[in-house]
Amino acid sequence: MTSTVFTGIAELVTGDPLLEGADHSEHLGLLKDAAVVVQDGLIAWVGPGAAAPPADERQDVGGRAVVPGFVDSHSHLVFAGDRSQEFSARMTGTRYDAGGIATSVGATRGATDDELRTLVAARVAEMRAQGTTTVEIKSGYGLSVRDEARSLRIAAEFTSETTFLGAHVVPPEFAGRRAEYVALVTGEMLTACAPFARWIDVFCEPHSSQAFTEEEAKVVLSAGRDVGLGLRVHGNQLGHGPGVRLAVELGAASVDHCTFLSAEDVEQLAGASETTVATLLPGVEFSTRSPYPNARHLLDAGVSIALASDCNPGTCYSSSIPFVLALAVREMSLTPAQALLAATAGSAKSLRRNDIGMICAGNRADLTVLDAPTYLHLFYRAGVPIACALDPVGDHGR
Ligand SMILES: [Zn+2]
Repeated sequence: MTSTVFTGIAELVTGDPLLEGADHSEHLGLLKDAAVVVQDGLIAWVGPGAAAPPADERQDVGGRAVVPGFVDSHSHLVFAGDRSQEFSARMTGTRYDAGGIATSVGATRGATDDELRTLVAARVAEMRAQGTTTVEIKSGYGLSVRDEARSLRIAAEFTSETTFLGAHVVPPEFAGRRAEYVALVTGEMLTACAPFARWIDVFCEPHSSQAFTEEEAKVVLSAGRDVGLGLRVHGNQLGHGPGVRLAVELGAASVDHCTFLSAEDVEQLAGASETTVATLLPGVEFSTRSPYPNARHLLDAGVSIALASDCNPGTCYSSSIPFVLALAVREMSLTPAQALLAATAGSAKSLRRNDIGMICAGNRADLTVLDAPTYLHLFYRAGVPIACALDPVGDHGR
């Protein structure tokens, strides 16, 4: 039951629209010379340093900035093998078509549980060292009942935000037997995976022969919903398609990528802004040499947006939210404040969580400290490792 007061916070970005005395321009809920009290893994108090209540321990962050811990709401961390050659080929002009996923499936199936666990642990630690305090982890490189279930079992050791993605691609052994694979995913595989998953996801993409059509995606998502899983969709990544429409129609929490959106897609997302978040993954556009969607345009239209890494072996092997933030500002027309809010409160919303993504009393004490006087340095000093999650204080119940 130890309490700790963090002092010496030159600039505190809370994201809390109700915080008294804060600067609410750009919705940052920003305080200068602030303090935060943490007790039992939760935030107990937020306010000016001069008014901080006493606590058992005192930790001075030395005039640095503190922001909400980043919420990485889209990642694929359970995989083995290396696909750097594929990245190299893309940089010399080869187009991405999702075919390389089979390479990761082969390596993942061949790895032991301990090997996979060690790989995931290293990737989660890498994220934390860059300021991420919550990560969603998908399966999707097992694609058999055994390998999907164990991928999720291992992912669940690291996060409660686990997502069953048996419908990532049709695995090679089911070539020409798509309907049989969809039946497996929605039958025996779902039964084996659901106990370890909070969400179900599908790669709905008519532009890849390995991915799933609108009809197949609907069958997969409906089956997941029937066993109590929340819905997420990989959509509109490689070209215009039905992903957004399907996600909105089924009330999915998130539709991810949104690289190619029609005016109608944007209108649908704006109408569903309380339910369905558009999660943008600019690391993927970077790593596949694809055009970036205009995130500012989505915000102006009233769409709820999130930013996440999509850390995965094929289309973006970067676990860095600061990198994502820099891309979002430079390439997707967001202001620094809009980008930071999208990777904290926005991605928390896409996970339907209200206990993370914002620094306010009662929320989890997920704090990221920047070795800088202001959050603007996240963007201004792109590529410099200034962000780090503060060590958990007290019992997070994890
Ligand atoms: Zn993905």
